[in-house]
Amino acid sequence: KLASIRGDVKFDSIVFEYEKGRPALKGITLDVKAGQTIALVGHTGSGKSTIMNLLCRFYDPVEGAVLIDGIDIRNVSIESLRSQVGIVLQDTFIFSGSIRDNIRYGRLNASDDDVVKAATAVDAHDFIMNLPDGYDTQVQERGNILSMGQRQLLSFARALLADPRVLILDEATASIDTETELKIQEALKTLLKGRTSFIVAHRLSTIRNADRIVVLDHGVIVEQGNHEEL
Ligand code: ATP
Ligand code: MG
Repeated sequence: KLASIRGDVKFDSIVFEYEKGRPALKGITLDVKAGQTIALVGHTGSGKSTIMNLLCRFYDPVEGAVLIDGIDIRNVSIESLRSQVGIVLQDTFIFSGSIRDNIRYGRLNASDDDVVKAATAVDAHDFIMNLPDGYDTQVQERGNILSMGQRQLLSFARALLADPRVLILDEATASIDTETELKIQEALKTLLKGRTSFIVAHRLSTIRNADRIVVLDHGVIVEQGNHEEL
């Protein structure tokens, strides 16, 4: 069980293959201190999502281990891991229900007030209040009453409310207008504060603000450093 973790994350000599004989990761070692933001970059197929899949334990490594606070995550219950490692996916997931339920998502003990606080912190409150029924507005899974940027802000509010120590974010590639872009940048800062974060980064601003940029190529880390160093 992971009680209250600091959020140090270590990938220790990870080898992984989806199919036998075709390694997707070929010896990844990455030591991340609690609170750091890591931007993962690299060509399509280089292994970025695979690294994140292993941290979520969607798969286990063939060799090596993923450690949180020095504990091999294979020795931690999935339930406990899920409460400490949060994920925001690229196609920000909206389900049919109210805006409030979408932000609350499984955190049944979160009060309405907590929901509003989280939405306010990521600057989503104003657009929500402009919807026909505010937080009670019903949205559909595939419905499009929300713009891409608004969906992203909602997913940030959800993640903020869930408050995981370790956050994984697969940044959306969708182009967004400059104003929304700035809003998302600010919201992201709020969301990342105080947690260990791994971002599959597409925005230059995200890459620039990261503590460390890790460049992957064909399943190996070919370069790492901050924006000035690279
Ligand atoms: P992208 O930028 O396109 O998202 P990525 O860096 O996230 O790429 P991965 O999805 O980690 O790349 O893929 C790494 C390698 O593993 C690729 O060769 C890919 O074809 C392979 N791969 C990924 N997912 C699977 C899967 N579910 N089954 C088999 N092979 C997979
Ligand atoms: Mg990917």
